[in-house]
Amino acid sequence: MKHDALDVVVIGGGHAGAEAAMAAHRMGVSVALVTHSFARIGEMSCNPAIGGLGKGHLVREIDALDGVMGRVADQAGIQFRLLNRRKGPAVQGPRTQADRKIYKTAMQQEFSARPDLTVIEAAVVDLIVKGGRVAGVTLEDGSEVHAKSVVLTTGTFLRGMIHIGNKRHAGGRMGDRPSDALAKRIEALALPLGRLKTGTPPRLDGRSINWQGLDMQPADDDPVVFSFMSKGPAQRQVACGITHTNETTHQIIRDNIELSAMYGGYIDGVGPRYCPSIEDKVLRFEEKASHQIFLEPESLSDDVIYPNGISTSLPEEIQHAYVRSIQGLENVTILQPGYAIEYDYVDPRSLSHSLETRELPGLYLAGQINGTTGYEEAAAQGLVAGLNAAASADGKAAVTFDRAEGYIGVMIDDLVTRGVTEPYRMFTSRAEFRLSLRADNADLRLTPKGIQIGCVAEPRRIAFEHKSEAYEAATARYKSVGLTPNEASSVGLKVNQDGVKRSGLDLLALNDVDTTKLTEIWPELADIDPVIAQQVENNARYSSYVDRQKADIQKLRNEEGLIIPPDMSFDAIPGLSNELRDKLKRIRPETLAQAGRIEGMTPAALLVVLSSVRKLSGVRSA
Ligand code: FAD
Repeated sequence: MKHDALDVVVIGGGHAGAEAAMAAHRMGVSVALVTHSFARIGEMSCNPAIGGLGKGHLVREIDALDGVMGRVADQAGIQFRLLNRRKGPAVQGPRTQADRKIYKTAMQQEFSARPDLTVIEAAVVDLIVKGGRVAGVTLEDGSEVHAKSVVLTTGTFLRGMIHIGNKRHAGGRMGDRPSDALAKRIEALALPLGRLKTGTPPRLDGRSINWQGLDMQPADDDPVVFSFMSKGPAQRQVACGITHTNETTHQIIRDNIELSAMYGGYIDGVGPRYCPSIEDKVLRFEEKASHQIFLEPESLSDDVIYPNGISTSLPEEIQHAYVRSIQGLENVTILQPGYAIEYDYVDPRSLSHSLETRELPGLYLAGQINGTTGYEEAAAQGLVAGLNAAASADGKAAVTFDRAEGYIGVMIDDLVTRGVTEPYRMFTSRAEFRLSLRADNADLRLTPKGIQIGCVAEPRRIAFEHKSEAYEAATARYKSVGLTPNEASSVGLKVNQDGVKRSGLDLLALNDVDTTKLTEIWPELADIDPVIAQQVENNARYSSYVDRQKADIQKLRNEEGLIIPPDMSFDAIPGLSNELRDKLKRIRPETLAQAGRIEGMTPAALLVVLSSVRKLSGVRSA
């Protein structure tokens, strides 16, 4: 079969590939997505949910750059919950359980709606290289697709191996072939490969669950959706059940631990610490008598339940035994057993910040292949790789994001400078600027850049410009009103009696003041759109912290060369997590800069290290 020469070819229609193809298409270049099957575009291989802490921020940022994940999740969401609702907006994470079928269909419709974005159903077996640069891909039937740039997003498929107990078979995910030929080709390119693993729980038949007596968790009454372009959820909202493992469950797992693929020595790859299997939980947290399980409906149109919290690689019969020891699941039918998958990943330190490989110009990598885990992490990288593949094909400058611009920048910087030792997932604690990198202001932070890059379509550009104007006008109105300390006291506001008049905007930075209170004082502010008012309030609340945060970051930058004494006792540093303490003891960084590059090191922890080193040198020099 003959294919036209293109600007960009994307390999793989998972979360990274879909976003990459869409991003390159928005940039106005010619694009083809080559993937095994159109019907599996948008497949959620594991949990039927989008967003969460840190991950929700990524989805908002993807949306701010006019990506598709947020819109599609809004179409498919069946239980929207804003996590950390009672905490400040900086750490709140939008999340939804998604109807797996609707998510897939909505994502596929995004492709069907763009007939000039070609989808080729095929397996890529080789990369074409010309003059030291990638020049396209070879398909299984021997045909070639020529392109100026290629984005590789093959997820868990490179030499994928599925494990259930001591049984194993080659597979990219349940029901899919692995990509072995491509893995060999990547190895031949001298890209550094490693092995990681992840796992998924058994799927249950909801009709065989005894829901009586289980706690139920409903959706939020006032759902917060992902896309700045969406008005609200599109689907009926459902509750999920909550149950727990118990001593019997743990005993069954302990008695059979040698049969687990992960513990029986069948798997070499490193798994995600932050998404542990039930075997990990039982062995690592021996003191815990039970672990929580969310029973999440996978769809409005079937009875499949995803038991969130018990991913496993034990043999099927042991899965039956331990699952049935759990309250509500005594007679449950398992529809598909849990399994673990081991796969090749490419060390992301071989990539630049545009996600281009240094070994082969024109080749971009995104998603699980770079050592990450999660749909959102994959999609965010796909977006960046797609933008860059298109920019490069078009002779434009690379598009990069720094750590101060967004979680996308934090993730890519972490990956390409620090690499991974276990599957990487996003957390708010990874971002040093997290008070300003909030989910609520992702559009204000990134849409202007998207417009400038050329990846934001007209409807969003217009909507954003209206919103920005409204935001500026509202800010000016809060600034135009004000109170002296005496006037503030007379309306019940606690401020320092320092004689300084404070504007409405200044007052919003105080803990017990919000826009509702200001409207009571100045009724003429009542006509400000509540969404815009909330945005002004959030920015005002954080403005002084953001300034302090910037000062802390500058302090760390100035002290990067500080020598950490070789005999420094990390056990004596207060306030460090055990995880970081262990890493510091093992790695023994020589300078503050080296300590800062330790995976999981946060700016707050680094400041504690800095002050301990300073204290120690103070004592020594005294
Ligand atoms: P994928 O979504 O896997 O997509 C890869 C795509 O590439 C597929 O469409 C495939 O058909 C295509 N492809 C592969 N090779 C070729 C080829 N040679 N030619 C053409 N097309 C090709 N994430 C979590 O956050 N938490 C979890 O607990 C978790 N558990 C998981 C458990 C399992 C068993 C699996 C399989 C995944 C799990 N994940 C989990 C990971 C999550 O599914 C991925 O992070 C996410 O799907 C990665 O997106 P991706 O686009 O990189 O790859």
